[in-house]
Amino acid sequence: MEVINTDLAIVGGGTAGCLAAYQAKKEGIESVIIDKANIRRSGCLAPGVNAIYSYLHEGDKPEDYYEFVKFQGMGLVRRDLALTLIKEVGYAVKILEEYGLPILWERQGRFGLRIYGEHIKPILADIARDSTENVLEYHYSVKLGVEDGVCGVYAFDLKNEEIVFVKAKAVLIATGGASGLYSSYTVPWYPPGNAGSGFSLAIRAGAEMTSLEIRFIPPRIKDVNSPIGVTAVGLKAPLINSKGEEFMKKKYAEFGGETAPIAIRAYAPTKEILEGNFPIYLDTRGVEEDKFEELIKLYLNAWPLFYLFVKARGIDLKEKLLEVQPSEPYLTASHTIAGIWVDERRMTSVKYLFAAGDAAGGVPLKHVGGALAEGIIAAREAAKIKRTNDYKPEELKLEFEGYYWKNAEERMKFVLDHYAGGLPRFYIYNEASASYALSEVEKLLKLKLGGEPLRVFETRDRLVVAKAMLHHMIERRETRMPPFQMRSDYPELSNSNYMLVSKFGEKVTFRREYV
Ligand SMILES: Cc1cc2nc3c(=O)[nH]c(=O)nc-3n(C[C@H](O)[C@H](O)[C@H](O)COP(=O)(O)OP(=O)(O)OC[C@H]3O[C@@H](n4cnc5c(N)ncnc54)[C@H](O)[C@@H]3O)c2cc1C
Repeated sequence: MEVINTDLAIVGGGTAGCLAAYQAKKEGIESVIIDKANIRRSGCLAPGVNAIYSYLHEGDKPEDYYEFVKFQGMGLVRRDLALTLIKEVGYAVKILEEYGLPILWERQGRFGLRIYGEHIKPILADIARDSTENVLEYHYSVKLGVEDGVCGVYAFDLKNEEIVFVKAKAVLIATGGASGLYSSYTVPWYPPGNAGSGFSLAIRAGAEMTSLEIRFIPPRIKDVNSPIGVTAVGLKAPLINSKGEEFMKKKYAEFGGETAPIAIRAYAPTKEILEGNFPIYLDTRGVEEDKFEELIKLYLNAWPLFYLFVKARGIDLKEKLLEVQPSEPYLTASHTIAGIWVDERRMTSVKYLFAAGDAAGGVPLKHVGGALAEGIIAAREAAKIKRTNDYKPEELKLEFEGYYWKNAEERMKFVLDHYAGGLPRFYIYNEASASYALSEVEKLLKLKLGGEPLRVFETRDRLVVAKAMLHHMIERRETRMPPFQMRSDYPELSNSNYMLVSKFGEKVTFRREYV
């Protein structure tokens, strides 16, 4: 087996991973990036982006950001992580500017910085390649080597079907969140290639996981899953129900109406649908005439599919309403607190193992800015590690004969959709339904999976994550953040202030207070 020696092994060449490689070089250490795809167009930024969120404009203070994410996260946020990340975003943006990212230096939303971002991912890939000669693309990280702390990463070369061991003083998980646990009835909003591998690697290595019950369910344009925040909040286009009522203003004023936390903006249309007041629409007819061209540009920078969708359906935004429906649930620390537990250094509870971006839990609405910042923080801290690493990699026996992965994945999705608060049940679950889902997922986990290696690994990762998530969902015996976490057996909205923490994907054993 080939062994590559380095200081920092970075799993995932996405937003956080590319800047981690930059910072590693700056700190004078070597790094290796391992990515299952081509880093020019992988992960969340593959389609582009129109703003870097979590950016402090002139006059903004770190505490303002903390208060903002606390409001958006309905109180569930770690202050230490929010304050440490927001201080690094300005530095991260400067690096991108030096590499040619066109920045408009205008505010978008409360903490957004407008950019022309269709090329942000190729730019990040250039930054990564300038920072390390070792970018292992089409390599799937299948397992961590652990012995008194993490010692390296087993990566499966998807083209040659061989294992490489990247031996490192520190490992950074920057694999994004988990898409594809639940079925998508259209194109998924969260990238399907982010299959929860980082969570799965961490869970199997015994790292603590936090808040996996708080899933992310974004309100989206129906049938194309495109974001609506810029239009609804930015351009003040109201959501209306089939009776023409502006229900956000009318029924959710106490949460801030149209600018309510994102969970409430997903819950409100869900409730309208359940009460029979569907279809739900985004009403763009009142948007000022000169804003439409700008709106299309914003979508072309971030979600070009939207443009094709409105053209193919012949939708004139000045006249026709856009139908809205929340999407299937995802697990991602970009928008909620679900993820791997980290300390301020972004080190997990396993020594020398770090996590950043959508993989690291604790701050909702971290977005691009947060992922860039956490990549930097983790690399800076990893550079301080002095240790000898005598780990002897084992010969992994990987087999791809067995129960076809697709059948296992379809069964998992069916079970989660119907018993663990998927879209067909409009996100509601209870003790009995989630316990049944858990027993079915446990059965699937016992199977030896077969088929194409990439898909076998992804399915196994999703199953590992699903099991951990279900333990969390069962343990939170309340409704804390509908529809992200919403139970029919405990329907009252609670405002408790604890986070659940688990290990090895087993029953949740302890809680921590938010501070
Ligand atoms: C559609 C969409 C629109 C968004 N819009 C905005 C916006 O307008 N503004 C904003 O600030 N934020 C936005 N966000 C959020 C933001 O893009 C993310 O929070 C951030 O990019 C996440 O960075 P990351 O490094 O954690 O993950 P990613 O950038 O997704 O990188 C993960 C990487 O890990 C790799 N990987 C995964 N599994 C493995 C494995 N097993 N082995 C090897 N490699 C692996 C993937 O291929 C990928 O390259 C958006 C997100 C999405 C999905």
